[in-house]
Amino acid sequence: MRKLLRAEFLVLALILPSLPGFPWGYEGHQVIALIAMKYMTADAQARAGDLLDGSAIDAVANWADDYRHDYRETGPWHYIDIPLADSKIDLARECPDGDCVIAKTQQFLAVLKDPKADKDAKAQALRFVIHFVGDLHQPLHDEDNGDKGGNTRYVVFERHPDDLRWIWDTGLLEHINRNPAAFAAELESRIVAESWNAVNSVCPKMAGLTSAIGSCNWQ
Ligand SMILES: [Zn+2]
Repeated sequence: MRKLLRAEFLVLALILPSLPGFPWGYEGHQVIALIAMKYMTADAQARAGDLLDGSAIDAVANWADDYRHDYRETGPWHYIDIPLADSKIDLARECPDGDCVIAKTQQFLAVLKDPKADKDAKAQALRFVIHFVGDLHQPLHDEDNGDKGGNTRYVVFERHPDDLRWIWDTGLLEHINRNPAAFAAELESRIVAESWNAVNSVCPKMAGLTSAIGSCNWQ
């Protein structure tokens, strides 16, 4: 599992910021999962496959979005509204009652590590973690500029007015119109060995997030 998280955070922290406009909708989550799979050990893949009843992690990368349609109370689990002007996170203010993506990721990681948790609980926790790691790294899931993370800011894209959040999450990737597997392979090809070393310089800058979810203790 650590390999999985290590891969996702590395890719997201080092590779995607170099791609302006990379959005985070259905295909985006698939792409993230496909890249992560390439960095999982055989053991990690086998254990994940067992928990997911044989499904690959990219096949369940959007499960949490489907789930929240029936369980609306889980909606706030997918984001955190950190004021754009702030330089650090105030969890007491921005994550009341632990209902935000940082706290929930931490909570479900703990379930995965808990030897007393049963398989169903771990399977659900894994589905949430796979999805929330992607959400965590989507800027409009993490910050707010008085516009509910872009939800109330309308812009025109391809001659159609829509909210910035949808365009960033989904519209841009639909516009790019790439097969998720091909897109994942292209992004993965840009990962170089030096990138793995650079992660140590990235971690302190991400301290607000990483200290909460323990993602800097990969080695
Ligand atoms: Zn989400």
